Amino acid sequence: ALKAGIVGLPNVGKSTLFNAVSNSAKAQASNYRFCTIEPNVGLVDVPDTRLNKLAELVIPDRIVPTQIEIVDIAGLVKGASKGEGLGNKFLGNIREVDAIIHVIRCFEDENVLRDEGAINPVADKEIIDTELQLKDLESIEKKIPKTEKGAKTDAKLKAELEVLLRCKAHLEQGRSIRELGLSKEEKVAVADLFLLTDKPVLYVANVDEGSMHTGNKFSEALTAAVQNENAQVIIMNNSIEAQIAEMDNEDDKALFMDEYKMTEPALDRLIRSAYKLLNLYTYFTAGVQEVRAWTIHEGWKAPQAAGVIHTDFEKGFIKAEVIGYDDYVQYKTEAAAREAGKLRIEGKEYIVKDGDVMHFRFNV
Ligand code: GDP
Repeated sequence: ALKAGIVGLPNVGKSTLFNAVSNSAKAQASNYRFCTIEPNVGLVDVPDTRLNKLAELVIPDRIVPTQIEIVDIAGLVKGASKGEGLGNKFLGNIREVDAIIHVIRCFEDENVLRDEGAINPVADKEIIDTELQLKDLESIEKKIPKTEKGAKTDAKLKAELEVLLRCKAHLEQGRSIRELGLSKEEKVAVADLFLLTDKPVLYVANVDEGSMHTGNKFSEALTAAVQNENAQVIIMNNSIEAQIAEMDNEDDKALFMDEYKMTEPALDRLIRSAYKLLNLYTYFTAGVQEVRAWTIHEGWKAPQAAGVIHTDFEKGFIKAEVIGYDDYVQYKTEAAAREAGKLRIEGKEYIVKDGDVMHFRFNV
């Protein structure tokens, strides 16, 4: 599963958020791991209304959502990039994630300790950004001399060197690599570095209860500050989410959410956004035993998509029967869609679309 890492300064509400995610994962009886020595890891279902809609039509024995892994990366503090204490280890954990969920404290509470004085979401974000940028600078600076050597005789390395130098200058200005807009070709130069500030990010503005639906002056300042990054800011209250996630009884949960005028847990919104951030596609299989969502990347061809279910499906791939999601919903059954000419037979070169309902034919 793809991984999203939760980062942020101490006492901003990271573990509260992580507990909410892992408890709701538990309540949904999904596959789930938890350990406290390594960063906390939980597998969580990705809510998808299309999956539910298909299940309403097919009425299967089981509904299986796709999942992403959420990692709680604690311990990031000012100076972490200097390698003091565990700082380096935490930064290493960030290197392994595919996307970053950056939690920012946007609530005031004198009982919750804070080292940096008055609440200041923009300054907080910059502290974390700076640590990640310094770490990236270190990676870039290590690679430059090696590339320089070869660049004298090799045109490809010369081009790479140019990208590295641009990255360096950019980082030195206190900017993140994701803002640099490197092309696909240019990214090759830094692909092996797994740069931290190149990872897609979304921000969680952890606001007080009263600002859950409206945001507050802190979340507004944050939203304004990240405008150039083209990043999403999710306004939520992590404590409320943790309380919802702990409820086993659906009626209690509904009542509680009603009281707070919530139509769904903000967590669902967060997980959907994290999934989107990872640039993933979902296709479905729909049968009486199981209606299930599968994760693929944009641009994957049918055999590769089939391989997510089983490697044999990829190796022995013959063809795929495909019904577009909208067609499936319109015609309500596979048979009706087939009759209407909406079931397509696709071969090895077919590029799977988000929402396709697929049935694979394969040789064993
Ligand atoms: P972490 O260090 O970022 O993991 O922060 P925690 O999740 O452990 O939260 C630190 C403290 O802040 C705990 O006492 C939480 O109960 C409290 N906290 C978390 N979210 C909120 C919130 O939205 N409002 C308030 N008032 N307190 C919160």
